[in-house]
Amino acid sequence: MRSNLSLNKILFSLAGIVTLTLFLFYIEKENLGLAGGNSFFKDKCQNAKNAVSCKITPFNINIDPSKKKNTPASKKQISLPEIAKIKKGMINITSTIGVWPNKENKTAAYEAYYTSGNYLRVVCPAPCPIPEAILKNKLIGAQKAVKNLTNFVGITVLTDQKPVDIHLMSSVECGNYTDIKQKNKVNGGYVSKFSSGKRGTISNGSYMCLWEWEDETAGLSINPVFAALLNQQAEENALRLEAQDVVVHEYGHILLLYRFTLSPPHMFYWQEDLVKTLSFYITGKWNGNGYQPEDFPLITDACSSELNEKNGGLFIYNLCTICGFKMDDIPVLLNALDYLYKNGLGNGEWGIPTKLQLKLILDEITGKDSIKDCVLSY
Ligand SMILES: [Zn+2]
Repeated sequence: MRSNLSLNKILFSLAGIVTLTLFLFYIEKENLGLAGGNSFFKDKCQNAKNAVSCKITPFNINIDPSKKKNTPASKKQISLPEIAKIKKGMINITSTIGVWPNKENKTAAYEAYYTSGNYLRVVCPAPCPIPEAILKNKLIGAQKAVKNLTNFVGITVLTDQKPVDIHLMSSVECGNYTDIKQKNKVNGGYVSKFSSGKRGTISNGSYMCLWEWEDETAGLSINPVFAALLNQQAEENALRLEAQDVVVHEYGHILLLYRFTLSPPHMFYWQEDLVKTLSFYITGKWNGNGYQPEDFPLITDACSSELNEKNGGLFIYNLCTICGFKMDDIPVLLNALDYLYKNGLGNGEWGIPTKLQLKLILDEITGKDSIKDCVLSY
């Protein structure tokens, strides 16, 4: 009898604990729900009520000092023997097209250009209308730009984001240029370049859609017809570092895909400002005059007025001019986000670091309250 009573007590206590746990879980859910709508931060550690049960893991930002060197990209032309190392293969890419619940998998054949040991590929739907010399030059140009970028930031895309495919024209994966342009007519008919990852689909990797073969507005075109209008050579353009600005930009988005949450509206601008700054730093920013290398000066100073533009570097510009953030702090920031993600310390969905964690990193780098003092939000 006695033991039965004890058992009842134990069972009763257990039931109580379970109920309490479920209740707390419910509260936590509620807080998360509210956070999305009402708060700047969507972070499970965002308020004092949660802070007791939810630790913000302290971490030290340790970065190899050799990675903190301000080494702007070299504008030296690329040596041609590298072209000889390029391999060509026929591949099938299966992509998940459409939006849930109308998602479907489609497989298409592509020509792929790559070099062994490098996860960047230039892909073109077979049979490919783009001359092989242009595809090869583009691969070498893109590889060099991405190498300059990853040398600077000290991180590369995650293992399951490889290979990174560069699409230069309409394809099953990217969609049709004319269709997209038609659809975007309300926005001026501009076809935006974009990139994405394939996690959660049936294949790994990531891709970027640049439309460089079809884009008639490019200043440095890889299409011989458009290039000729500007007295340029498409083959030469494909190789030029200045012509890899969108590659660097979209690669930057892929780098941030799982290392930083992308919740609108604020954080889109933050990402856009960062990847634009990276592309200006690595490939230069066009001065609007001509198309010589000197017309694409590298922006190496985070306080440069060239970055004082919403959606064009403003976040970095504000951080620099108001709080002393430097171009060399970008690798520190990215390595800290990378550390949080890779060690399962991100406080957002799927372990992705949040805005609050971004703020804490920036506080540590600048020694200021980056939200209050550095105009982090706009
Ligand atoms: Zn972008």
